[in-house]
Amino acid sequence: METDLIIAAIVVVVGGGGTALVARLRSRRPSAPAAPDEAAPGGAVGTLEPPGQDGTSGGTGTVAPPDSLPTEPPPVRARPVEQPPPSAGRMARLRGRLARSQSAFGSVLLNLLSTGNLDEQTWEEIEDTLITADMGVGPARQIVEQLRTEVKVTGTRDPAEVRDLLRADLLAQLGPDMDRTLRALPHGDRPAVILVVGVNGTGKTTAVGRLARSLIGDGQTVLLGAADTFRAAAADQLQTWGERVGAETVRSDREGADPASVAFMAVNEGIERGVDTVIVDTAGRLHTKAGLMDELGKIKRVIEKHGTVDEVLLVLDATTGQNGLRQARVFAEVTNVTGIILTKLDGTAKGGIVIAVQRELGVPVKLVGLGEGPDDLAPFDPEVFADAIVGD
Ligand code: GDP
Repeated sequence: METDLIIAAIVVVVGGGGTALVARLRSRRPSAPAAPDEAAPGGAVGTLEPPGQDGTSGGTGTVAPPDSLPTEPPPVRARPVEQPPPSAGRMARLRGRLARSQSAFGSVLLNLLSTGNLDEQTWEEIEDTLITADMGVGPARQIVEQLRTEVKVTGTRDPAEVRDLLRADLLAQLGPDMDRTLRALPHGDRPAVILVVGVNGTGKTTAVGRLARSLIGDGQTVLLGAADTFRAAAADQLQTWGERVGAETVRSDREGADPASVAFMAVNEGIERGVDTVIVDTAGRLHTKAGLMDELGKIKRVIEKHGTVDEVLLVLDATTGQNGLRQARVFAEVTNVTGIILTKLDGTAKGGIVIAVQRELGVPVKLVGLGEGPDDLAPFDPEVFADAIVGD
């Protein structure tokens, strides 16, 4: 109920500059603990608006300077809230997209394999085709060796049989037994916390928004933390995603505010509100490794004052090939990545990047982006992926 809502003012002294920010925090509960010492000096405070009068979630509040603090709460707009579809089977539903982007590479392989004369040059062409799909030299060689043995043993050139062999070998390289479960379930009265990291432009903010939709589609409650404080547009974008599905966003309106403070406030608010999952979008500037390490390390430490970080998901753009792998290496060095979100897989025939990046980091691709639509983020299914490459 609106009448239960309490407006609390939190004053945070900004380290260094000594400026005070006053945030209006409206919560269902009367008090929110102060940010820990580590978070406070950064000085950013996220704010929340109350749930809508229709019982749905409200949007995000703003950080207001002290002299503009209004005496009346602003009117709450009722927004229609969407009910997104559940995540199960999503990749199979988007198979057409995958087949369009990946099958060209599969059909080249199948044509080569079905030729009467499988000589040394043809095997080299097969290997080159696999490498061109960004799979990496090691996995490409393994697939070729495996296929050579199988084709020799069976003596087959039958297209259907050749396709089955290729599918099985591709699938083996995709790591069908890797645990791709998303750890997004709460621990008792504490929400699961998912940190999303990655370079700007990879589709990170879109991925956070779509992940929230997907979890809500699966029946969970979600709160978003806009800790990418270097781009106001990113926080706006996140808030818009959240509003569509009734997830609130904790943000600061001060560009460059301390990301760890926003992350802390988001998790704190998630606990207060009893949500299942808090997803924190982090800054994706390409800056020094030491800077990145400091920033992500601090966010993680601050959150861990409340409990655990359940997932650190690294967003990579599938169309960037080797560049994406370089980014993966840097992020893996500075933080403990637990899963990969591979975006824009609809925009490249180089699906072999799934294999290369899993090898590089030793962690599974958990989600893939297959389009620009709100529900085009799917749990990664290696079987569907292998089918899309070889066609069936
Ligand atoms: P950020 O800078 O990393 O936060 O990137 P954004 O989330 O703003 O996304 C950058 C662009 O990539 C947007 O136009 C998105 O619609 C687009 N995008 C994100 N994921 C996908 C995807 O899976 N497929 C396609 N085709 N476009 C995507």
